[in-house]
Amino acid sequence: MKASTIVWFQNDLRLEDNPALIHGIKSPSNLIPIFIWDEERDWFSSMGEASRWWLHHSLEAHRQSLKKLGLDLFIFKGKTDLVLQELVGKNRVEQVLWNRRYDPSSFQSDKKVSRFLDGLGVESSDFPAYTLFEPDRIRNKSGGIYKVFTPFWKCCLQFLDEIQPLAFPTLSEKVQTIPLHLGSYDCLCSIGDLGLLPQVKWDRLFEKTWNVGEKNASLGLNDFLNTKATQYKLSRDIPSVVGTSRLSAALHFGEISPRQVVQATREQFGDSGLQDPGVACYLSELGWREFSTHLLYHFSELPQKSLRPEFEKFPWQNSNLFLKAWQKGCTGIPMVDAGMRELWQTGWMHNRVRMIVASFLVKNLMVDWRLGAEWFSNSLVDADIASNVLSWQWVAGCGVDASPYYRIFNPVTQGQKFDPEGEYVKKWIPELCAIPKKWVHCPWEANEDLQNHWGLGDDYPKPIVDLKESRQIALDAYQSIK
Ligand SMILES: Cc1cc2nc3c(=O)[nH]c(=O)nc-3n(C[C@H](O)[C@H](O)[C@H](O)COP(=O)(O)OP(=O)(O)OC[C@H]3O[C@@H](n4cnc5c(N)ncnc54)[C@H](O)[C@@H]3O)c2cc1C
Repeated sequence: MKASTIVWFQNDLRLEDNPALIHGIKSPSNLIPIFIWDEERDWFSSMGEASRWWLHHSLEAHRQSLKKLGLDLFIFKGKTDLVLQELVGKNRVEQVLWNRRYDPSSFQSDKKVSRFLDGLGVESSDFPAYTLFEPDRIRNKSGGIYKVFTPFWKCCLQFLDEIQPLAFPTLSEKVQTIPLHLGSYDCLCSIGDLGLLPQVKWDRLFEKTWNVGEKNASLGLNDFLNTKATQYKLSRDIPSVVGTSRLSAALHFGEISPRQVVQATREQFGDSGLQDPGVACYLSELGWREFSTHLLYHFSELPQKSLRPEFEKFPWQNSNLFLKAWQKGCTGIPMVDAGMRELWQTGWMHNRVRMIVASFLVKNLMVDWRLGAEWFSNSLVDADIASNVLSWQWVAGCGVDASPYYRIFNPVTQGQKFDPEGEYVKKWIPELCAIPKKWVHCPWEANEDLQNHWGLGDDYPKPIVDLKESRQIALDAYQSIK
């Protein structure tokens, strides 16, 4: 029997710029592409329902792409070590290849797999594919870790020229899937058997909103670069327009790599075009993704602990009633509720609105940022532990390079500034459709007759907190830990 190479897919569901796959294709052995759903590993056990929905469709798309090359994607549901052990034993596997993951728990568990394979006498190699640069590459002059974004990104920009995504090789003949030999630990299954789709059909709007998979990610990027990138600096803050790339989930599941995004941007605008304010601003957002991933790699406790230690003494109130109202989009604050309803119905929320709803939860409602991050993690299709945790800590004022605690977003003035006509709030809260733009972000400020006419407190709730008072309570609480 000819020797085999396993290519183990995780959050890298693409053909292009996929170093593990491309190394596997170039090796002279048979290729076995696999995906293992292992609920004992953190990435799976903590994966929220919205992300599971995305993963199901992403796996389907990836399976189709591999099929066109003549390859099957073998899906397993079981323990990673046992699956690999069976495959190795029965198929003359000489190497297992995968792409590196950087969040501490995935990093550690992938290392364990590597040691396990070593014990079986099988080589393993992992490759950089998730970020622009390896976390240990980006260091300040004294060799330390950047904790402030601007110098971090400046340092990254110096190396941007080096970024060269790997092109998929031209194949002289179709690669063939070999018949797979399995032993007693037979947990080969179909994508459907993973049970990633919801039992209760709450995902109808997801289907209308998203086109999942590598091909769609690439089309989405081209469309963004052709029609939106140069206006990005202005339009990215307007939640009623599609002014951003909406590629965060595709990047998270690796349907497209950040290196491909940089390369395509460079091809579209040329090196000098990268200075265009819209384009530079867009690339710097990718920089925030990079910054978050690197920081979590260096500070593994970030998901549990505020980076600024004084926040561990913060007197969170954690009212369950407030938390539930926030989750359901029933706080009576239109900009907050619109965002939370967009999240629930589509699995995504505009970045400006993410900042507004997060600030409202941790400051006006005094709910611990970790509870907000948990809800986002369960509800976002793009839920990414590094970006999520770092962003929550940024809004809460307890992270690195964070927004100061006393900067409390006022959801009314934010709404008036970024959604002046009320289009966004009316889209997600139809109960507010009849309200003129003057009141749409603060209907409780209109006279009683108007409020009754709009059904305020009936069809749509009155605010659960007074914005001014709750702001003062939050500032006083902050003084107590300073
Ligand atoms: C409280 C909170 C939680 C968040 N949780 C997540 C999360 O779980 N996963 C996630 O991918 N992003 C998260 N973000 C960041 C940001 O909101 C989303 O990345 C962005 O809205 C995705 O839309 P887009 O693809 O159109 O972004 P674009 O504006 O097109 O930006 C391009 C890419 O840059 C990255 N990016 C943009 N902004 C940020 C940021 N602030 N931090 C890190 N990366 C960024 C994303 O990969 C995005 O696709 C969070 C932000 C906040 C305030």
